[in-house]
Parts: sequence; C-alpha cells; structure tokens
Amino acid sequence: MKIRFLGTAAFEGIPSLFCRCELCAKARAAGGKEIRSRTSVMLDDDLKIDFPPDTFMHMVRDGLDLERIKDLIFTHSHSDHLYAEDMAARLPGYAQSAAHPIDVYANDAVLLRIKQTLDFNGGLQGKFTLNQVKPFEQKELQTAVIVPLPASHDPIETCLLYYIEKDGKSILYGHDSGWFPDETWAWLQDKTLDLAVLECTVGRSNYRKTHMNIDAVLETNQRFEEYGILKPGANIVVTHFSHNAQLSHAELTEIFEPHGIQVAYDGMILELL
Ligand SMILES: [Zn+2]
Ligand SMILES: [Zn+2]
Ligand SMILES: [Zn+2]
Repeated sequence: MKIRFLGTAAFEGIPSLFCRCELCAKARAAGGKEIRSRTSVMLDDDLKIDFPPDTFMHMVRDGLDLERIKDLIFTHSHSDHLYAEDMAARLPGYAQSAAHPIDVYANDAVLLRIKQTLDFNGGLQGKFTLNQVKPFEQKELQTAVIVPLPASHDPIETCLLYYIEKDGKSILYGHDSGWFPDETWAWLQDKTLDLAVLECTVGRSNYRKTHMNIDAVLETNQRFEEYGILKPGANIVVTHFSHNAQLSHAELTEIFEPHGIQVAYDGMILELL
C-alpha cells in the first residue's frame, strides 16, 4: 500500500498566513520540506483522510486524480481538516465528475457541515453519501475496514482516530489528539500495526492534553513497544506540525530519527510492502 502525505501542518500552515516568526521566515526562504500545508493523507489512490483547504494545491502539486477516491473519512470538523466548500466542486455544474458517489464517513458534526454546505448548492445530488461513524463501531468501506477510536482533542465534538485495515496492512491514524484516552489504549492493546501516524503539533511545550508534544509522541511509541503493538519493521510517522513549535524539518528529524520515528513532509510517500 502507498501512503501519500499530502499536507503535514496544523491549522496555520508553515509558513503561516500573516506570520513573521523566525520559523516562518526560514520556511519562506528555504522552501522544500519546510513548506507545510494543512494535513491530509491518501491511501493508494482511493481512500482519503480529511479534506483540508489545501486540497486544490495538493491535487495540482502531486498530479492527483481525485475522481479515483471511493472513500473519504474525516477525523473531525476543524477547518484544517474539513473545507466542505470545495467538496461542492464535485457537484453538477461545477465538475463533469463520474457517476459514482464518494462515500463519506465521519462524526455528526462533520456530516452536518457537509450537508449544510452542499445544500446551498442543490444538495448531494448522488455525488456523495454521508455515513455517520461512532467510536468502536467497525465499518466496511469499499476500500478498507475502519474502526473509529476516541481522540483526546476537542471536547465539544467526537473527534476520531482511525484503525484502518487495507490490503492486509493495518494502520493507526492517530490525530488530532493529545495523549490517547484510556479506552483507546485498551482497544489498541491486542492489535498489531504496520504503520502509526501520530501528531506533534506543539513541539517542546509542556502540553499533551489536546495535541501531542515531543515527549507524548516518544511515550506513545514506547507504549506501542510495551504492548507489542508494532509489527516487525513497522513505521511510525509524525505529522501535523505548528509553526509555533519553531522546529524545522531538520531539527524534528534530529529529535525523532534516533527513536526510529519518521518526520513527514509534504508530498512524502511511504510504501508498505
Ligand atoms: Zn488539525
Ligand atoms: Zn510563524
Ligand atoms: Zn483539530
């Protein structure tokens, strides 16, 4: 399976709009891996996680054919993960899109936002199906089997992590979240993973409640090992970085590489063999 990291930043992106901080200035000058757009990944070409406001740019930059997407799953409704306005671009009159609907799986907050936004444009019109998911309830998608798991993120909605099985590989998509809730750890305990994607939004800050800092990522990795959750040769990837953490790709790599953790960058492709 191929995992494509389309965007790897938190809400503000790096460099951030309007920002004159040191990291944003460096990113503007250096380009390349220092430029981070809002977070999303694509599994093969048919399963996408989240639909951020940078999706147009991801499509153009990586030569994506978004019409190959069969399933679209959402972690939560924050604007760096859900830009429903651009989903309307698949509707008749905007795109000459294929007949099949894209199946959307998300919590109620995300589905409501998508429905309200598309209702302004004549409704779903057979271009999307909306499917509500709940923590621990397994769903069989066209492309994968998923189990949503509780995140520790925004208490006013049911933010979700996902356990995903696709083509014989198992993945934990672990953000946005602070230190995982106990019930998520309990569910994960007897699973084995080929890949875990974690976030490190807040860098060195002493904070791990709704986002992870460096220590929380390292301790999560440690617990994976204690529980025997990682298959031999499993990949751990960190993503969803904020400019406020003031850490470049090179600095993050220096921190995480000794622990066998890969630092994602925009456009990074991981092959699970
Ligand atoms: Zn986010
Ligand atoms: Zn900045
Ligand atoms: Zn969020």
